[in-house]
Amino acid sequence: MSREEPIPRFGHKPQVAFFDFACCEGCQLSVLQLEERLLEILGHVDVVTWREAMTEQSTEYDIAFCEGSVTTEEDVERIKRIREQADVLVTLGSCASGGCHNELKNQWSMDEVRRVVYGDAADTISTIPSRPVTAVVDADYRVFGCPVSLPEFMTVVNAMLTGQSHQPPNQPVCVECKLNDYVCVYEMGKVCLGPVTRCGCNAICTAYGDPCQGCRGLMDAANIPAMLKALKREQAHAIMCAVVQRHELSDDEIAAKLRIYNNWPEFDLKEAQPDDD
Ligand code: SF4
Ligand code: SF4
Ligand code: SF4
Repeated sequence: MSREEPIPRFGHKPQVAFFDFACCEGCQLSVLQLEERLLEILGHVDVVTWREAMTEQSTEYDIAFCEGSVTTEEDVERIKRIREQADVLVTLGSCASGGCHNELKNQWSMDEVRRVVYGDAADTISTIPSRPVTAVVDADYRVFGCPVSLPEFMTVVNAMLTGQSHQPPNQPVCVECKLNDYVCVYEMGKVCLGPVTRCGCNAICTAYGDPCQGCRGLMDAANIPAMLKALKREQAHAIMCAVVQRHELSDDEIAAKLRIYNNWPEFDLKEAQPDDD
């Protein structure tokens, strides 16, 4: 992207704001690590709000990058206000795009969560089950990953500034794994969630022999029943079956593994249980 290129979507240099909700802010930090490429982007947009990077703030903006999970009623109202103001809303990272480990708190009652975290001050704190931003408002673009994949972020920025749509990749990580000719980690005795996880990271974990933990969330048509059957040793490739048997995962452990990045209230793993037949 060169500085001289036009910006057909806006017809002017759009104003950009970054917002964070409940999260580690690692996705914003990753974007800051773009360094020279960030300067290139700044040739096309004016950043008017970015708490992690600058002091100035503005209530006027065209594009909102939103990171993190919605975990309070105030968050719900805030993200709705941002959606109303922004012509374009981009969710940054899995917390905002589809679910992430913030939702682990949803396995307990909110009263219990407040009591354990805030002790005597629990009654002064309000909290609601954690959700991705996309569970509350529509996003025009979604960038998955924990943290975001920077090549994917750049692709989305290019699409956005040239007025094109962009659909996140919607195939399993296994596809990227095979395209790169990586050895399947099941052959190394490790349990991997790649068969149901949205690709787009270029299988970065399996590249180093680590299993996919599912940080980009489930792909849209993830075959969860088949994955569960495989993890329960009911139906699997011989190698997968042997590996899973060695790990002796209980039903609760299997559910917990899948829920690390997929535990927003509307996601019901029980509905995805394999049929009894
Ligand atoms: S997606 Fe991961 S890296 Fe990004 S803000 Fe959430 S927890 Fe942090
Ligand atoms: S290592 Fe994981 S992602 Fe790669 S092929 Fe095996 S199961 Fe799929
Ligand atoms: S391989 Fe899995 S855990 Fe690793 S970055 Fe990709 S989606 Fe996330």
